[in-house]
Amino acid sequence: MTSNAELFDRACRVIPGGVSSPVRAFGSVGGSPYFVQKAEGAHVWDVEGNRYVDLVQSYGAIILGHAHPTVVDAILSAAADGTSYGAPTEREVLLAEALVEAVPSVEKVRLVSSGTEATMTALRVARGFTGRDRVVKFAGNYHGHSDALLVAGGSGVATLGLPGSAGVTASQVADTLVVPYNVVPELDETVACVIVEPVAANMGLVPPAEGFLEGLRAECDRVGALLIFDEVITGFRLGRGGAQELLGVRPDLTCLGKVIGGGLPIGAVGGRAAVMDALAPVGPVYQAGTLSGNPLATAAGLAALGMLGPPVYEQIGASAEQLASGLSKALGDAGLPAIVPRFGTLLGLFFGPDAPVDHDGAKRTDEELYAAFFHELLVRGVAIAPGAYEVLFPGVAHTPEVVDRIVDLAHEAALEVAHRRG
Ligand SMILES: *Cc1c(COP(=O)(O)O)cnc(C)c1O
Repeated sequence: MTSNAELFDRACRVIPGGVSSPVRAFGSVGGSPYFVQKAEGAHVWDVEGNRYVDLVQSYGAIILGHAHPTVVDAILSAAADGTSYGAPTEREVLLAEALVEAVPSVEKVRLVSSGTEATMTALRVARGFTGRDRVVKFAGNYHGHSDALLVAGGSGVATLGLPGSAGVTASQVADTLVVPYNVVPELDETVACVIVEPVAANMGLVPPAEGFLEGLRAECDRVGALLIFDEVITGFRLGRGGAQELLGVRPDLTCLGKVIGGGLPIGAVGGRAAVMDALAPVGPVYQAGTLSGNPLATAAGLAALGMLGPPVYEQIGASAEQLASGLSKALGDAGLPAIVPRFGTLLGLFFGPDAPVDHDGAKRTDEELYAAFFHELLVRGVAIAPGAYEVLFPGVAHTPEVVDRIVDLAHEAALEVAHRRG
């Protein structure tokens, strides 16, 4: 039997850092990653046969639990008919129709292969449509790893403490303005678009302040800039219509990913028809993809979306509340300073006295405490993300019994951390 350590050793010889995405490395919490062998529902098993209750859930791509039979069947039956054609298919139309129906501001949609491609495309469309160059983003929001948007990113960029990235030139970010989250910036007529996570979930969980999103809408309208909601996490996770439906603010463009692929690689950018028609082959903004609208990804996505309705979101919301209050009590009882913010079905874990409202606040989380708690949880069989700026992703498979178990183990873990701190 191969071990986690052995695989990590081999991985490091042929893969930088041994991982295919930096957020999976244990750099900020110490130690080395477990290698997953299989997963089912709320659980993953590593190659050594250890079982973990999983709150990572592919960083939000999984909402129905791992290997949901309906999704697996859809993928298997699609695969038997071929995996990619380079010609349109009915399922692309069905998925696009489902997205247009569910997401209030989306009239037309282009399917891509990742969230990164979705935000990259949204930016290009906004610039092409407005004829302007400048882009406004918020510190601590993560929009994938394209050059123009990596600056002051959340998620792994925050975890590694990088200001942006080497390999991104000054000219590539010269037109990107970074401003603090939860404050409406004053714009001018040089701004093509404002891109925002309507509920920030890559610097821990930071909900929008009262009036923030409405203020952005009004300020964009005042200067003729487009408002882009990056709903790659929140889309079909807070509800079918995402944050925009829940909060009643309509962006011009919406980026989707994660949940809409049922665990397969996909992304989408959608919005007002007039704006979306700037895209080739109708308009002058070029964008393309060999595997876009992939038959397996659209099959998995359709299967997943077909099972997501109000009762499911109510159920996940209840689990999220149970988990938030349980974790908060477990950590509090142990005397650890922690806040477990919740917004609908999403929750965060912040080690500090006050809930953060922006990136500066989020960076005050005690990363050492997070790391200690992470490891005490992991040895007890509960997996959360190996980085203090990620959120927790309860889903359909996190039943009340599963959540109870997480909370019990979290209580033990917290007591051990407190004991070690003395
Ligand atoms: C994950 C994420 C992305 C990037 O999606 P990928 O599929 O990883 O490229 C973009 N925006 C947000 C808000 C995300 O959470």
